[in-house]
Amino acid sequence: MFSKTLENCTVLSGGEEYDSITFDENIISLGGKEKGNQVLDMNGAVIVPGFVDSHMHLYSTALKLMTQDLDGLSRREVLLKLTGAKPNQNGWVVSRGWDESLWKKQEFLTPDEISNGNPVLAIRVDGHMAVLNKKGIMESIGLGLHVESDGVIKEGELDKLMSRIKPSSDINEAIMRAEEYCLSQGITSISDIETPDLLADYRKMQHKLRIVFNPIGLHRMGFNTGDLVSENLYMGHVKLFADGSVGARTAVMSDGYRDSDASPSLVYSDSQLEALYSEIISSGNDVMTHAIGDVAIDQVIRTTKKFDKGRLKIEHNEFVLPLRTEMEEKGMVVSMQPNFLRWSFKGGMYERRLGSGYIGLNNRFGSLLKNGVKVAFGSDSMPVGPMYGINLAMKPPTSGQKISFDQAIKCYTENSAYALHLEGITGMLEPGKKSDIVALDRNDLSVLKTYFEGVEKYSSH
Ligand SMILES: [Zn+2]
Repeated sequence: MFSKTLENCTVLSGGEEYDSITFDENIISLGGKEKGNQVLDMNGAVIVPGFVDSHMHLYSTALKLMTQDLDGLSRREVLLKLTGAKPNQNGWVVSRGWDESLWKKQEFLTPDEISNGNPVLAIRVDGHMAVLNKKGIMESIGLGLHVESDGVIKEGELDKLMSRIKPSSDINEAIMRAEEYCLSQGITSISDIETPDLLADYRKMQHKLRIVFNPIGLHRMGFNTGDLVSENLYMGHVKLFADGSVGARTAVMSDGYRDSDASPSLVYSDSQLEALYSEIISSGNDVMTHAIGDVAIDQVIRTTKKFDKGRLKIEHNEFVLPLRTEMEEKGMVVSMQPNFLRWSFKGGMYERRLGSGYIGLNNRFGSLLKNGVKVAFGSDSMPVGPMYGINLAMKPPTSGQKISFDQAIKCYTENSAYALHLEGITGMLEPGKKSDIVALDRNDLSVLKTYFEGVEKYSSH
């Protein structure tokens, strides 16, 4: 393969800085004298490893690119968009991303105010709940699903509805668009959490980046964690849920909620969760478990402690109170989302739901890293794009939790690669690793170029 040298740049590698990098499919040298066949003047760019998103949903990202994105809009704008929205091939309007915590009237949408002649499913930004319009309620009930009195549909019922009404148009094309979008954000590997049926579709595709596929729930997939399933497609962890989200008031917190008398319970009892871990681990797979509330996190740590094998992950790990040394001792990997700091500021959603005492107690990246916990960063597709989360982690609501640019990059590359069992392949810029390389503008840190295994897959101009 044709080799390249990027020069006039700052290459960040394992705490060191170099002024050039030479590579073909693999990295050849850093700051070396030999030059590649092609030499590029990078005009002072910052060169980092390709980002590894440790928790995302490629298919919902694809849907988001195909359906209406309501993220960041005011209540009025959301309602206007829903009114004018056209249905998909299944006759449904599916929109996602509304976030009432940004609105003056901080209340969920209601069925009555969504006027559209078609059934409408409006999914909240966290993906754990949605509101239906009246027609949507009728159709959902007709499908045998449970809808709450205020038109809200949550968690498992929402997943069932989604699998019935997803646009049957070309999944391949949608996924390819989402992969290209990831590359434009500097992402070269992802940990993709999906319903197991999607694996068959994924296996037929030519992926543009590295995908680690994590099926939701215990299913016989025929592959073990770490297996290469097809080109650029690996088997990941089996995904379980211990609780839900703070936004949907389904995260299990020991103090409950301040703004509601909701009292969600854990998805599994201790013995059920342990039995699931046992079965998954003994069949050659690792487990990743969603846990956001402190009660759920405690349960996952308690369960993990009973197993010696595997690279077991906690997903989100938001309200870990107090910091648990077991995480370090057991070599647990925590996969967290700096993006979620968007709800952590004073007056933000976490304070309203849980009280001001919780402001400094969620997403404590500074404390976790200081305690030697391996923190992997991911976006949870809210939104996809590492720089959004990295900027928040560098300027968090609680100054004591601030982390440096270098630390944030390490979480989003080296640590995430480890979480995905990809540390032998990517996550660091060192000779021998695959040339997954991102060039960032030195002023605004926007993505200038993305190389995947040495091939330029994105350029900003
Ligand atoms: Zn997720």
